[in-house]
Parts: sequence; structure tokens; C-alpha cells
Amino acid sequence: MLAATRLGADVLPFDAGNSSGKKGETAIDTMRNLEAMGVDCFIVRTAIDGELRALVAAAKPETRFINAGDGRSNHPTQALLDMLTIRQHKGTDFSRLKIVIAGDILHSRVARSGLQALKMLGCGEIRVCGPDTLMPRDGTLDGCTRMSRFDDAVAGADVLMMLRLQRERMEQGLVGEPEAYFAEYGLDLRRLALAAPDAIVMHPGPMNRGVEIADEVADGARSVILEQVSNGVAVRMAVLQAVFAA
Ligand code: ASP
Repeated sequence: MLAATRLGADVLPFDAGNSSGKKGETAIDTMRNLEAMGVDCFIVRTAIDGELRALVAAAKPETRFINAGDGRSNHPTQALLDMLTIRQHKGTDFSRLKIVIAGDILHSRVARSGLQALKMLGCGEIRVCGPDTLMPRDGTLDGCTRMSRFDDAVAGADVLMMLRLQRERMEQGLVGEPEAYFAEYGLDLRRLALAAPDAIVMHPGPMNRGVEIADEVADGARSVILEQVSNGVAVRMAVLQAVFAA
């Protein structure tokens, strides 16, 4: 929203689940009503996989859509801002990099889009680590190195991408207590010291401090988490401009 406002757009924040959706209107009807009011572009964030595709199919051909997080399937603008952040710190040659994606990959649209982008950019090694119950089994991890011990995954890594435990998308019992999770998969200073000396720490937010990441790491010198946030605005402005230039 900030990206659109900064570009001078008229922005209409709309939470379908809390307004028309509550009264039983379908998402497609809501979109068509907004289209009839002259909305040119929809920036859609949805928890329902496939909803975005259905909206695009039902819209006028000239209506533009930007994917701002699609179920657990993908989150392209997050991947773009993550790649920009990595590039700013590590340069353009991704083939030299060892990148770790850790945590709840199964429920993470951030991980799915990030993996796609890293593979496209020819990343040297993508290591994935997390509880077995939170690893996808559908080919998402093809080409990645699966590590069972987090210490081994962190060793010598250049980039550590930590993911939130997505409890809202999770069936009960997939992970144990937060303390036990942190002991096995949390990034603390001891583990960070195993990484390359100039390693960067990333997180898409919102963070669960003390669950996947320690305060000292989140707020420490190697953290680029707030840079990701700033880059997010710039990248989304660029995406909006590109969509309207097309
Ligand atoms: N903000 C990210 C997303 O929309 C990551 C998260 O919620 O954990 O998927």
C-alpha cells in the first residue's frame, strides 16, 4: 500500500474477509464491484491457494493484478526483495553462494518463491533444514541439499533465510513446544558463529523471537531484516511501475 501511495495512486485498502465476504459475497463478485467503480489494479494477498488465478480469469482483460502472497504457493514480490537484498550484500554472482533456508518450508510461500528465484539465478548451493514434518514432498526441494542438523546447515553459509513457524496454516502436532524447536532449529549467536564471517541473516517477518530467531541475532550486526523491509517498498514500487508500463 505504501508503494502505491508513494507513486501517487489512489489506494483503497479492502479486507474482503471482513466486509463483503462476511455477508456471503464471493471474492469474484467483490472484485467485479470494485472493477465497476473504476479500480485499475488489484494487489491481492490471499490465504486461499488458487483464488488469485480465479480472480484474474473472471476480470476484464485490462484489469491488472499483482500477487502479494498467494496461499502457501508463492509470494513473488518477497522473492524479488530478498534477491535484491542478497545482491546488495553479496554481489551478482549467486553461483558462489551457499544459502540456507530454515524452518517451516511446507507452509511457506516465501520459501517457494525464494527457491524458484535462487534456482533461476544459479545459486551455488541451497541448503534446507527444518523438522521432517515441515518439509514439502512435492518436488519443491529438488536441487536443494537437505540437512538434518541445523549446525551443519549453517556451517560456512553466506546467507541464512529464517522462516516463521506458520502455526495458522498448520495441523496440530506438526511441531513440538517452541523451546524445543528453538533448541533444534533456532538461530542464536552460537550457531551464527558457524556461518561465514560475513554471513547475512534474513527473515520475511513477522518474526517469532525466541522461536526461530534469537533477539541478539535479529537485532545484531549480521541482520539485514530491516533492509528487506525497506527494499520491499522500492521493489513493490518498481513492480507497480512495470505493470502500468506494460
Ligand atoms: N509475511 C510473509 C508472508 O506473507 C511471511 C510470513 O507470514 O511468515 O507469507
